[in-house]
Formats: sequence, structure tokens, C-alpha cells
Amino acid sequence: IRKSSDYLTAAWGNEDQPDFINQVWEVVSEQPPVSVMDILLDIESSLGRQRTKRWNPRNIDLDIIFVDGHIINHERLTVPHPRMHLRNFVLLPLMEIQPDFKHPVFGMTVRELKGWCIDILPAKPMEE
Ligand code: ATP
Ligand code: MG
Ligand code: MG
Repeated sequence: IRKSSDYLTAAWGNEDQPDFINQVWEVVSEQPPVSVMDILLDIESSLGRQRTKRWNPRNIDLDIIFVDGHIINHERLTVPHPRMHLRNFVLLPLMEIQPDFKHPVFGMTVRELKGWCIDILPAKPMEE
């Protein structure tokens, strides 16, 4: 129902690879969260993603950041995403669409998390 603009970010985790384009979407689904995760993994596969080493180059990565205010610890789904607060490339696009949303574990808004984040990798808005 809403999406952020695009951000260009140097690769996080394993830095010897091309830049990434990042975007955050807000979506509505009637499926349970783990089924949404499985759908996202299927979409990644259908777009040709192959999982090699963690944080290696990939053509697509579809992650779930929040599911309303829920906390989920399932073998295929951890929500909130456990590294979202460490990443400018998540927080900056998220600020565009949900700045006042409160992280259900940390009790801080997206705007507050951005204030605390010390990620040194810039996420730069791309030209339209
Ligand atoms: P990171 O989690 O640091 O962003 P990544 O996105 O590269 O790393 P993947 O290889 O895409 O990691 O995902 C590995 C597994 O993580 C997937 O099989 C998926 O089931 C699981 N997973 C758990 N929680 C989530 C989540 N919130 N969003 C996406 N994947 C998740
Ligand atoms: Mg990811
Ligand atoms: Mg992923």
C-alpha cells in the first residue's frame, strides 16, 4: 500500500561486491507471516536467486522487517528483523513511510532508531 523511494548502498557484511538498491514496501496480506516469508523466498528463487555464502552478491533479497507490532521467533522467520536497526539502508527508506512506528522489542520509533544507528555505510537517495 506504500513504498519508499530507492536508495543506493554499498554492500553490507561482505563489502567486495557491487552496490545495492534498497527500498521498503508496506504490504497487506491475508496469509500468515510464515506463509508470506515462504512466498518471498519463492519469488527470490523465481528471479534466479541462489543462496551461496551469507551476504554474498545476490540479484534480489526480500526481507520482512515488521509485522504490525508482533514478535515472531520461528525457524524460518524472525520479526522484527534482527539487524534492521543496524542498517541505514533499512532505516532511511522506512523513515519515509513509517517514521513513528514503534519497534515492539526496543520500544523506540523508527526515527529514534535512526538517531541511534551508527552504520557508517551511507544509503543515498537515488535520482528519480
Ligand atoms: P540478513 O538477514 O542479514 O538481511 P539475508 O537477507 O542475506 O541476511 P537470506 O539468505 O536472504 O539472508 O535469508 C536466510 C534465511 O533467513 C531465510 O531462509 C529466511 O527463512 C530467514 N529469515 C528469518 N527471518 C527473516 C526475516 N525477517 N526476513 C527475511 N528472512 C528471514
Ligand atoms: Mg537481507
Ligand atoms: Mg533475505
